[in-house]
Amino acid sequence: MILTIHRGSKQIGGSCVELRSASGDRILLDVGMPLTQPDGSDWPRGTMSRPGEELRREGVLPDIDGLYAGSSPEISALVLSHAHLDHYGLAHYVHPDIPVYGSRGTIEMLRASKLFVPDAAVPADLRELPNAGTVPIGSFSVRGIPVDHAAPDSRALLVEADGQRLLYSGDLRAHGRQRHLFDELPYAAGAIDVLVLEGTTVGQAQGSHGFADEGEVESRLTELLRHDRGLVVVIASGQNIDRAISVYRAALAAGRELVIDPYQAYALMTLRDVCPEAPQFDWPSVRVKFIPYHVAKLKDAGFWELACKMSRAGKVSLEQLAANPSGFVYLARSSGATVKLLRSLARTTRPTIVWSQWSGYLKKGGPVPSFCDENGIEPYIIHSGGHAHPEDLADLARRLHARAVVPIHTEAASQFADFIQNVRVVNDGEAVEVASLIAGYNGEAS
Ligand SMILES: [Zn+2]
Repeated sequence: MILTIHRGSKQIGGSCVELRSASGDRILLDVGMPLTQPDGSDWPRGTMSRPGEELRREGVLPDIDGLYAGSSPEISALVLSHAHLDHYGLAHYVHPDIPVYGSRGTIEMLRASKLFVPDAAVPADLRELPNAGTVPIGSFSVRGIPVDHAAPDSRALLVEADGQRLLYSGDLRAHGRQRHLFDELPYAAGAIDVLVLEGTTVGQAQGSHGFADEGEVESRLTELLRHDRGLVVVIASGQNIDRAISVYRAALAAGRELVIDPYQAYALMTLRDVCPEAPQFDWPSVRVKFIPYHVAKLKDAGFWELACKMSRAGKVSLEQLAANPSGFVYLARSSGATVKLLRSLARTTRPTIVWSQWSGYLKKGGPVPSFCDENGIEPYIIHSGGHAHPEDLADLARRLHARAVVPIHTEAASQFADFIQNVRVVNDGEAVEVASLIAGYNGEAS
């Protein structure tokens, strides 16, 4: 097998990995949107719906022959590790004849975003990566192994060809609600030759990814919800299902009701089989605050009956929130719709804002941070990140006994070797034989 990291060897986000077998078959693992432009600024709105030829010329789309619409397809398949934009965000540019695989949860999240998010697009030929067993793709066999991460139903991807086995970690951590998956990964993967390992937290200040684990997030939220006397608004990613569970559990413990919007209610509903703990709109103490745009989207997609069901199960009005603010916790995203609601409530109640995602996004600004600034509100930051701490990465690498470890999704590839053995740094665009990566392997040092 030949490994090429098209993007991600020296940056966080925008990952794209290609594997080529001896018979010439090629597959891709992830085609992510970089988190920012090369100068660090945000992408202009609408970038992800611009013509593919332009984006390829500008280097936004990786320069890969035979991948995109408009050329003849030469890639056997794209396999997605999880539903974060920095891993799947450019997948809709892939040639419509190239199948795109993802776990059930990944596919549901892509479809939910297409329903509610303006300009969101999904690949033409989406296929489900089975929960167990391998998928044959040309001369490769591919298996998705469940991992603990901040996106639901995330996978590490184990690829075999030419008698070699490569494990791509995707994004993972050891401190979420599914920590056991981290412990089980070496048993699920078996012997591997090359580990392509994410290293988001490597080289970053301790604590920059929030509290130690999701359990601590839940207990901090519970404490706050018990003592605060007003409406508490928790701002988190709509895909962070662990966080939705934590907020719900904290609400129950504090005697409050969880309020979600129809987008969140819909996303959680599509995941009920994959994440049985994910709170559902028809569960006790779950209410839905209707947002006209979301309701219109449900109606357009033929889900009017579902909207009626959400309404019957627990619609909550602005007046009800205003009359009893301490009876609720509102889980939402940093959007214009959230700010509109906060403004409507401002006449009667001063909300407490909890920022429950990466603190870097708070500094960058956006609708809710601006609202906080305008109103002199200092948000609480209660968060735990989606990426393994360096000591957990070291532990995983040790237990996997990989013959070569290749850093990805990191700004500190050169620091991997400080705490992991057999590290081989590969540059973006460099095609390397797996055989040469493992050639220098002399077993494990003591
Ligand atoms: Zn991720």
